[in-house]
Amino acid sequence: MKVIDFHTHPFLSGEEFMNFYPECFEPSTAQIVKDMESAGIGHIAGSVLLKRKYTAEEGFAYIRECNNKALELKRILGGFCTPGFHVHPHYVKESIAEIERMGSLGIRLIGELVPYMHGWSDYSCRELQMILDAAEHYGMIVSFHTMKDEQAEMTKMIASHPKLVFVAAHPNEKEYFLLHLERMRKFDNFYLDLSGTGIFRYGLIAYGVNKAGSDKFIFGTDYPICNPGMYVRAVEQEPISDADKEKILYKNAEKLILSR
Ligand SMILES: [Zn+2]
Repeated sequence: MKVIDFHTHPFLSGEEFMNFYPECFEPSTAQIVKDMESAGIGHIAGSVLLKRKYTAEEGFAYIRECNNKALELKRILGGFCTPGFHVHPHYVKESIAEIERMGSLGIRLIGELVPYMHGWSDYSCRELQMILDAAEHYGMIVSFHTMKDEQAEMTKMIASHPKLVFVAAHPNEKEYFLLHLERMRKFDNFYLDLSGTGIFRYGLIAYGVNKAGSDKFIFGTDYPICNPGMYVRAVEQEPISDADKEKILYKNAEKLILSR
């Protein structure tokens, strides 16, 4: 079965290699291709993260560096990679310019946004709203990290831009997963990617499909933090139909990415 990994953090070198055991690898784009091929994944999407810590002194130059590296990855990996880019609510003007720059290059994926790594937190703040207005104008997809303590803020963000597609990252443990399921039922523009914590709880996907259907789950791993093969296998093992597995492993993501 075809597989698209909607949630990765691709890397050019050790500077962007977010793995917890980096001494076991020689990080390069060839490593990405090798790992993905061995997991049966044919396409990846996602934003670049830097191992160097974000500081307000570096500010938007840091964000732009991530985004430029995402463009470089796109140049090297071609059709194998859908690059995601970052925006930052402390830099509204710069973020909107970045949306215009990426939009003109045909790039339509914002994120995964990682506020906890980039020194901001409020998904419902006015500044982010202004940035999302521009994102909506360009028909972008917004992938964002689930902030467990920002439940109301996440809901507000999704409700504020009904024409913008939002994809939350990580089901997390059950109490948080249930809140995402509620959002999936309530908001047409809201999807959940299965990366990170949650999928190893056996039955999570079957339960979710039962409650919210299979059209809004998107396969993701959080590679290279997480082992991609394990995530593919986890979906295959769930007690759901092959048609549902196909939607989750690639059809839903394909629809989102290709419709832009
Ligand atoms: Zn991530």
